Amino acid sequence: MTGTKPCLKCLLRDLPEEATLAANLQELISQIPEEDRALQPLAQERLAACRSCPWLRRGTCGLCGCFVEHRAEKKKATCPDSPPRWKND
Ligand code: SF4
Repeated sequence: MTGTKPCLKCLLRDLPEEATLAANLQELISQIPEEDRALQPLAQERLAACRSCPWLRRGTCGLCGCFVEHRAEKKKATCPDSPPRWKND
C-alpha cells in the first residue's frame, strides 16, 4: 500500500488534501462578528501555540474537538488544556 501519512501536526491551511474544508472554515471564520474577533497578533500567537501542541490533530484540538483556526479567531475563546497553552484577550 502506498500513500503519504497525514500530518497530524498541521493546521488545515497547511494540508492540500483538506483545501475544501479549509475554505469552508475560512468562510465560517469570516462570519465571526468584528466585535467578537481576536486581534490578529493574538490569533496568530494562539495558532503558533496550537502548532506546537501535542493535542493538535489535523487542524482540530484533541481535547475539545474544535477547529483550532476558528477557535483562535474568537476573542473570548479559551484553550481547553490545563494550564491553557494560549492567552485569552
Ligand atoms: S489544547 Fe489548546 S493549544 Fe492545544 S490544540 Fe487545543 S486549543 Fe490548541
